[in-house]
Amino acid sequence: MCIIVNSAAMPPFSPSVQSGNIATSSRMASASTSLAVLHLPVFQVDATARRCENSRRRWRTSHARISLSSSSAADPSAFTIRSRRVILPKRLVAREMMMSMKCALTATPSASGEDTLPQGASEVDAAYMRMCVDLAREAIGKTSPNPIVGCVIVKDGRIVGRGFHPKAGEPHAEVFALREAGPLAQGATAYVSLEPCNHHGRTPPCSQALVKAKLKRVVVGVVDPNPQVGGKGIKTLRSAGIEVVVGVEEALCWKTNEVFMHRMRTGQPFVTLRYSMSMDGGFLGNIGVSNVQGGLYSKLLQENDAVIITDAAVYDDPIILSSEPNAKQPLRVILARSLDLPVESKVFDTSCAKTLVLADQQACLENIQSKNADGKSLEDKLQARGVDVVMMKDLTLEHVLSVCYQRGATSVLLDSRGPVFSGLENFLGQQAVDELAAQKVVVQVAPVFLGENRTEPGFRMPHDDLLMLESVSSHMVGQDVVIEGYFQQP
Ligand SMILES: [Zn+2]
Repeated sequence: MCIIVNSAAMPPFSPSVQSGNIATSSRMASASTSLAVLHLPVFQVDATARRCENSRRRWRTSHARISLSSSSAADPSAFTIRSRRVILPKRLVAREMMMSMKCALTATPSASGEDTLPQGASEVDAAYMRMCVDLAREAIGKTSPNPIVGCVIVKDGRIVGRGFHPKAGEPHAEVFALREAGPLAQGATAYVSLEPCNHHGRTPPCSQALVKAKLKRVVVGVVDPNPQVGGKGIKTLRSAGIEVVVGVEEALCWKTNEVFMHRMRTGQPFVTLRYSMSMDGGFLGNIGVSNVQGGLYSKLLQENDAVIITDAAVYDDPIILSSEPNAKQPLRVILARSLDLPVESKVFDTSCAKTLVLADQQACLENIQSKNADGKSLEDKLQARGVDVVMMKDLTLEHVLSVCYQRGATSVLLDSRGPVFSGLENFLGQQAVDELAAQKVVVQVAPVFLGENRTEPGFRMPHDDLLMLESVSSHMVGQDVVIEGYFQQP
């Protein structure tokens, strides 16, 4: 276990770790001080907040913001640090601080940015809301078509209940938190990352459960755009005399459920286009696609209900399975202009995940009719392995996404991995960009030069207009830089 201070220009700063505690002492008063960067290992720590000069301290990480409140303001025993890389801005650094936290150092995104707090909310509320988001993310990729939701119940500065929605059909986050809190919920504050539901679905309405438990205050991250909810949950709570604050860490809560939000707005699946590139602009195809646990590709597979690759990519025999623990594997969709596919490929092993081949009917006509010596067509062989084969009259991205959606995929990953001479690879990227069928793009840039062997990604911008991405962010995965952004939606 170690903490490395990675700033040569830093004033005296003496971090130490003792018996599972983090103790930091810093003096960063110089106006010219640059950011100090701590690299923290993943571990559980218990420590005690001893002194904070102000009522709260805020740490900023590359992906998450962590607020520390003084011990008198709130229970600091369960803040979650969600990054190995903790950056202390000079204006916010604590001069002398011993943290008292149970810290689960894992990975988390944050869209919190510089969100302003709504009226009636404090930084402590924001910290608990971020905790709700962390809890919600425990079920990432498992709740479709439902959103991921986390709930924390706090009584007299102590957390008395936590919960998250584990999967569709299971109780909602509030139910688990209320169960844990029991009678302590009375007079407490409930934090929930998405507006409590107000309708009888597969589970009773959470708004009424909160009323019944006699909560005093409910803090909501973002309003549920589901027409069945849409503010009605908040109205029910307020009608019962509960103080409700809405919009704490709203951007973060919205981004956490971007798939659900998009589907509610458009009735369409949320589409992410991904590819890898070299430093000299070459398309990397399979290189750099790592589905080891914690890897970008593994996480993308975990987050999406379906992943689309082309028949050309199948010849490289890729493993298209997420390695995240207990990940719900996505439906693997293969776009085929020919059924002359390597039937023994790993992607056609349907013991761990389903595979669907969407074949161009016209182009596959010969394959359908032709049979091998054993009398079986390739279609028969694929189906014998449990692969679903659907002939498409019109193999357009719109139709492909429609089929995915009909099969329950609310989020789809367009996995553009070459080879680039494949017409379908062009098809994937081109249509996603041309028709703005994709909402998000994730590009992984690896620190390699391909030289003369490089080929450009299988799509080009067809127009002269500058196509700017929005809400762009970047982070490191191993040696690679990952850039994410969103296409402007009409
Ligand atoms: Zn609910």
